[in-house]
Amino acid sequence: MTEENMQEWSRAEDSASSLPTGSRMWPFKRYSEIHARSLADPQRFWAEEARGLDWYRTWDRVLDWNPPYARWFSGGLLNACYQCVDRHVRTWRKSKVAIYWEGEHGETRVLSYSTLFREVNRYASVLKKLGVKKGDRVALYLPMIPELPIFMLACARIGAVHTVIFSGFSAQAIADRIGDTQAKLIVTADGGYRRGKVLELKEIVDEAAELCPSVEKVIVVNRTGREVPLKEGRDVRLLSLLNEADKLVKPEPMEATHPLYVLYTSGTTGKPKGIVHSTGGYLVFNYSAYKWVFDIREESVYWCTADVGWVTGHSCIVYAPLSHGAAIVLYEGAPDYPAVDRWWDIVDKYGVSIFYASPTAIRMFMRHGEEWPQKHDLSSLELLGSAGEPLNPEAWQWYYKYIGGERCPIVDTWWQTETGGTMLSPTPGIEQIPLKPGSVTFPLPGVDAAVVDSNGNETAPGQTGFLIIRKPWPGMLLDIYGDPQRYQESYWSRFPGAYYTGDFAMRDEDGYFWLLGRADEVLKVAGHRIGTAELEAAVISHPSVAEAAVLGKPDEVKGESIVLFATLREDASPSPELEKELCQHLRHVIGPIATPDEIHFVESLPKTRSGKIMRRVLKAAAMGQSLGDLTTLEDEASIEELKKAYESLRKEI
Ligand code: ATP
Ligand code: MG
Repeated sequence: MTEENMQEWSRAEDSASSLPTGSRMWPFKRYSEIHARSLADPQRFWAEEARGLDWYRTWDRVLDWNPPYARWFSGGLLNACYQCVDRHVRTWRKSKVAIYWEGEHGETRVLSYSTLFREVNRYASVLKKLGVKKGDRVALYLPMIPELPIFMLACARIGAVHTVIFSGFSAQAIADRIGDTQAKLIVTADGGYRRGKVLELKEIVDEAAELCPSVEKVIVVNRTGREVPLKEGRDVRLLSLLNEADKLVKPEPMEATHPLYVLYTSGTTGKPKGIVHSTGGYLVFNYSAYKWVFDIREESVYWCTADVGWVTGHSCIVYAPLSHGAAIVLYEGAPDYPAVDRWWDIVDKYGVSIFYASPTAIRMFMRHGEEWPQKHDLSSLELLGSAGEPLNPEAWQWYYKYIGGERCPIVDTWWQTETGGTMLSPTPGIEQIPLKPGSVTFPLPGVDAAVVDSNGNETAPGQTGFLIIRKPWPGMLLDIYGDPQRYQESYWSRFPGAYYTGDFAMRDEDGYFWLLGRADEVLKVAGHRIGTAELEAAVISHPSVAEAAVLGKPDEVKGESIVLFATLREDASPSPELEKELCQHLRHVIGPIATPDEIHFVESLPKTRSGKIMRRVLKAAAMGQSLGDLTTLEDEASIEELKKAYESLRKEI
C-alpha cells in the first residue's frame, strides 16, 4: 500500500466510525469503503468521477460553496448534448440502439446513436435559425415521442435552457410556467395519443400562448397528422423547418455552472417550484448515480416508465442513460392501454433488462392481479427500480415476485426534483447489499444524509426524524427560478448549514434508511409521532386494500386523530366489517395508537399528474376547507368523489 493509499484508508476509517451505531457492522465492505472515502474528501472524489465525462476545458475549482449556493466545476467547459450523443458516434456505439420508441398503437421507431446525432444537429439548427440563443428558455410541451428528448438535447447543444412541461397539463398550468421562465419559444405537437384518444396539444398551447406575451414562436411537430390551426407569423411546422436545416451544428462549450434546464416540482405540497439545474454538476452526478444504482452494461435494455416531464424522466430517460451510451425504451401511451398488460408486453417485445417504475403504477397492477404479467415472458428482466413515493413492503413483495420472478433485486431510489439524481438507493453497480423491503437502504457515495430531530441532532436507531443532507452534492439545484428567497426558505432555513428535504425518515439498527412521508404530514397522536407512509404501508398490507392515504385532523384530546382513505382491490367491497377488520389490523401491525378515527372507502384517490397522492386535497375535503389550486390533479372525478365522501361523512356526524 502506498502512503497516499494508507492515508486515504485511515481517513475512510475515521469517517466510517462517525456514522451512527449499526453502520460499522455493515457486511458490505466495498460500498462502505467508497462511501466513507467520498465523504472524507468529497472534492477529490467528485473530481475523479467528473473525469468520466468529456470536457472542453477542465475546471479550476471542484466546488465553490457559498451557502446556500454550491457551484461545481467552476471554470470547466462541457456540453450535455456532446456527452449524450457526439462522444458515442466516435466509437462503435454509432450503430448501437439509442432509443426503442413504442407508440400507443404499437408502432415502433428505432433510433441508433448515429441517427440521434443526425437529428440533434438538424433540430439544433432549426432552433438557431429561429433566433434561439445561449441562455434563452425554450418550453417543450410534447407527448412521449422521440422528438421530445431530441429537442432537449438540441437545446443543450446550443446552450438554450429547456423547460419541459408535462403534456397532461392545462393551458393555465403552461401559462404559469412560461410566465415564470419567460420562454420565447414553445415546441408542441399536432396531438398525442393517450388511451386511444387524441390529446389536442396544439389547441391547448394556443390558449396558453394568449396568456404569455414572451412567446414569439411555436414549433409544431407532426405526430397525428391532424389539421391544427396555425397562427400566421407565429406558428411553424417542424417539417418545413427541417427542410432548411443545416446538417451540422457545433456544440456550444458551456460553463459547467450554466443552467441546463428549469423543471417544476410535482406540486404535492404546494405551488410548484421552478428548479434550476446546472450542466456540469448535474451531468457528473447523474452519470455516477446511474452506474451505481442500475449497474448499467453495454447490453442492457433500460426502460424508465416515468414521463419525460418529471425529473425521473429528465435524468433517467435522457441525460443519465444517454451519457452512458445505453439503449433505452420510450413508450408513448398509458400503462393499461389497450389492456392492463401493456407494459409487460413491451418488456417482452424489447427484452427489457432494467425496469424502473413508480409505486403508484405497481399498486395499480397489483390491484388488477398477477394474471396480467403472467401472460408474458419477463425473463429478460435483471433489475427492477422504483421512485417517487415510498414503496410499501406489500407492493415490494408483489413486484419482486410477479415482475422480477424472485430473481431481480429492487432498487428503491429516493430523490427529488431538487436533488437532480438519486440520493438514497441500493447500489448494485458497486456491490449488492442485502435488501429490506420498504427501505431505500443507504445514501449513494458523496451523499451525506442524516436523520435528525427538530434540534438538528442525529436520532438514535429506530427513532423517526427529518431527512437532511449535510454536504452539497454535484446534482444539487442551482436555485429556484426567479425566487432566491423561496430557495433559502424552503431548503436552508430549517437546519442551518444543511439541506432540508422536507421528508420524514428513520434509520434502523443496521443503519438502513426508511422514508416515512412528508415531514408536514407527520401525525402527532397522543404524544407519538407517526409517519403517514408507515401507516399507509400498514393499511396496504391488508389483503383487501389497494391504496391508502392517511392524514391527521386536529383533536382536542389526542392532538391529532387519524383519518384514513382507502381504495379496495378488485375482489373486495366496502362494509362495516371491513372497517372493523382494518382497525384490528392496524392495532396489530403498529399498535393501538394507530387506530383510525375515520375510515373512508373511495373509488380513487386524488393524485398529482405524476401519480402522487395529494394529501392536501384530502385534508381540505376532510376538514371542509377550500380545495385550493388543483391544476396538478390527475382527474376531476376524484375530487367530486372526495367532496361526496366528505359530504356523506358530514351527514354521519
Ligand atoms: P412539491 O415539492 O412541489 O410538493 P414533490 O415533492 O411531490 O412536489 P418531486 O420532486 O417530484 O415533487 O418529488 C420528490 C418527493 O417524492 C420526495 O421529497 C419524497 O417525498 C417523494 N419520494 C421520491 N422518491 C421516494 C422514495 N423512493 N421513497 C419515498 N418517497 C419518495
Ligand atoms: Mg418536494
